[in-house]
Amino acid sequence: MIIGILGGGQLGRMLALAGIPLGMRFRFLDPGPDCPSRHLGEFIQAQYDDEHALDRFVKGVDVVTYEFENVPAKAARWLTDHLPVFPPEGALATAQDRLAEKSLFTQLGIATPPHRPVDTLDDLLAAADALGIPCILKTRRMGYDGKGQFVIRSDDDVLKAWNTIGRGRGDRADLILEAFIPFQRELSMIGVRARDGATAFYPPIENVHANGILARSTAPAPHCDANTRQALEHAVGAIMQRLDYVGVLTVEFFDLGNGQILANEMAPRVHNSGHWTIEGADCSQFENHLRAVAGLPLGSTTARGQSIMLNIIGAQPDTTRLLSLPGTHLHMYGKSPRPGRKLGHITVCDNPKTAESAAALLHNC
Ligand code: AMP
Repeated sequence: MIIGILGGGQLGRMLALAGIPLGMRFRFLDPGPDCPSRHLGEFIQAQYDDEHALDRFVKGVDVVTYEFENVPAKAARWLTDHLPVFPPEGALATAQDRLAEKSLFTQLGIATPPHRPVDTLDDLLAAADALGIPCILKTRRMGYDGKGQFVIRSDDDVLKAWNTIGRGRGDRADLILEAFIPFQRELSMIGVRARDGATAFYPPIENVHANGILARSTAPAPHCDANTRQALEHAVGAIMQRLDYVGVLTVEFFDLGNGQILANEMAPRVHNSGHWTIEGADCSQFENHLRAVAGLPLGSTTARGQSIMLNIIGAQPDTTRLLSLPGTHLHMYGKSPRPGRKLGHITVCDNPKTAESAAALLHNC
């Protein structure tokens, strides 16, 4: 089976590393010249909406999937007209727009932060009045790792936020204002749905961000009772069913610590907070995504213990010292260092002491 993947980043690389043992082959399409997946299959360097390149990309491919969600809708539609594309185009369109995402959560009865669409400065002033300060202004589309966001902490910040994010975006700024949620912690839930509608869920994951970028995931999340787990599974299951979803879906939540859980956003793909599943679960999120899109039975999502995943961000770590810590699983993505860039990750299973030593090494690099 040949799997076509739109995007050639580290998620594509880890998909291929999971699929090659199953006998799958991979073809990637990515505009970047030097992306992490390029040595793991055929590689086509082109823009996502280049129809000639898409023509070459689909020849002989059995199914198409993607490893990032900002694929132009036009390209997804073109592909859908030619061959099976999973997750479905509708899921992609919803996940590309924070407002559509939150509207879907609300329709399904899934609690989400209070929010208002913002297209003009007047909209922003009215929305800030309605939601109160602090609040957070975000672009509806193309934001990631905390980019395209402004936290409004005072009346003076309202205009600053508009000048930073809104001004210059034309008549329709396409923004969203959200109430600032004083959450106790962030959780994510990763579900997978097969072509025949079967579903499975990994345990809840606790995530810590630094400067808007995921720094650490712990799975299963500590102190997560059965009711919370059930609520998270129920929410992700409802979204997958509504979207007639196939593949891995990740939803990020705010845990207010009083039994209240709010859905923040969803990613229609494998997710950074699920990297621990490579060593820490019976079947990884990458393998399960491929099983789902290829029409194969799903694998077990059971965790083998408690895993800690640490992202390697910005600077090259001392890999010799990291690997001298027993039980460290190191994944480097072959990317050149740049501030804020995810270069790799480490997973440590059932060994919190090693995880803290690894975290200290990363902190010092
Ligand atoms: P996002 O791109 O929506 O995932 O936002 C990036 C990070 O900003 C989140 O992981 C949170 O730590 C924080 N954040 C986003 N939205 C809110 C909110 N409404 N209230 C408080 N913190 C938020």
